[in-house]
Amino acid sequence: MINVIEQKRDGGELTREQIEFFINGYTAGEIPDYQAAALLMAIYINGMNRRETVDLTMAMARSGDQLQLHNMGTFVVDKHSSGGVGDKTTLVVQPLVASLGVPVGKMSGRGLGSSGGTLDKMECIDGWTYQLSLDECRNQLADIGLVLAGQSVSLAPADGLLYALRDVTATVGNKSLIAASIMSKKLAGGADGIVLDVKTGSGAFMETEEEARELAQIMVDIGEDAGREVVAVITDMNQPLGYAVGNALEVKEAIDTLRGDGPPDFRQHCLKIAGYMLLMAGKAETIAEAEQLAAAALDDGRALAKFREMVAAQGGSVEQIDNPDLLPRAKYIEDILISREGYISGMDTSELGWASVNLGGGRRVKSDKIDPAVGFLLTVKIGDHVSAGQVIGKIHADDPQKLEEARKQILDAIEVSERPVKALPHFYGFIS
Ligand code: URA
Repeated sequence: MINVIEQKRDGGELTREQIEFFINGYTAGEIPDYQAAALLMAIYINGMNRRETVDLTMAMARSGDQLQLHNMGTFVVDKHSSGGVGDKTTLVVQPLVASLGVPVGKMSGRGLGSSGGTLDKMECIDGWTYQLSLDECRNQLADIGLVLAGQSVSLAPADGLLYALRDVTATVGNKSLIAASIMSKKLAGGADGIVLDVKTGSGAFMETEEEARELAQIMVDIGEDAGREVVAVITDMNQPLGYAVGNALEVKEAIDTLRGDGPPDFRQHCLKIAGYMLLMAGKAETIAEAEQLAAAALDDGRALAKFREMVAAQGGSVEQIDNPDLLPRAKYIEDILISREGYISGMDTSELGWASVNLGGGRRVKSDKIDPAVGFLLTVKIGDHVSAGQVIGKIHADDPQKLEEARKQILDAIEVSERPVKALPHFYGFIS
């Protein structure tokens, strides 16, 4: 392992054998965290070429079992986001697409750096578990057309381990590591078609559109090499998605959206991602038609009913879905007031994500426990006019000192300009 680290540290290329040695040894617990962390940092700094990235992805995808879904008789789709702040898209899109007759088998992850994770959000629901055996996953997919699993089932266990280590060693934002992490899960998860939501902006691991396009292209290429259909949609992350940031708050916002309400940007985002999944599965001829189908399923309650079915199938409390006020609730809830008049001109979205982590909504070290109730709602968007003293959101905290620190961090992350500012586009294009 020391030779492998040295080779990457000195800018060399790793062979397939070296990559497999690392992934197999780390998954088996034979390579310690400190050597794995050193190699991750060397990869982060010196990068990997396309061949190394594909080898890393394949080794990770093969580090455990692989679901075979081709025999399900229908085209199974999956989606994945490259990570963002306030990104609760899976909670809406997965049941939405399944409610339209397209089976969705999905493997999700935990929070990473300043960006939240689907499993952490879903665990706010009492009793809900992602720990399903492969047979349970297959059966649930056949029964209700929808399963939301985590990596701790034996799929891509190497990613589960590396993801947790990257989260706390500042080695998240490297294109090869992100692409291998996402695509190994997707390949092991067995879906025929995959829609990737690649974020760009101040709250994304890829800050510029160019970097996001490069990441998207690497993942589309890996999918093609592995014989899957992949579409990557490039979407904005220069401000949080929707209003809610923090686990239970985001679950509540997802339920609102499943009821046909929810913040307009978030609803529009869900319709677009669901639209591409439906298009891929042959349910519509055009993206506009696919989005219309999806909008109808949100508005008439079909998507919410499917979500409820998945929660029940995975042991969760449906009472909390019917009455989201029963979800974990913070002790202190206070307004956020903006001090000066003007137009919201920018947000440091990653800092906003860290504000939620610092309130207890995410992890700074691997063993940190998540506080499901904390976070904030931010109800302004870039381009909005604000007046001095206007309430722009609410902080939910379980500790008064953390509440004050979060207030400062949130306000420091928001820029206000005297001149009018244009609203940002939400989509920057797609790669297929
Ligand atoms: N999402 C993942 O699954 N992995 C990453 O590395 C980043 C985002």
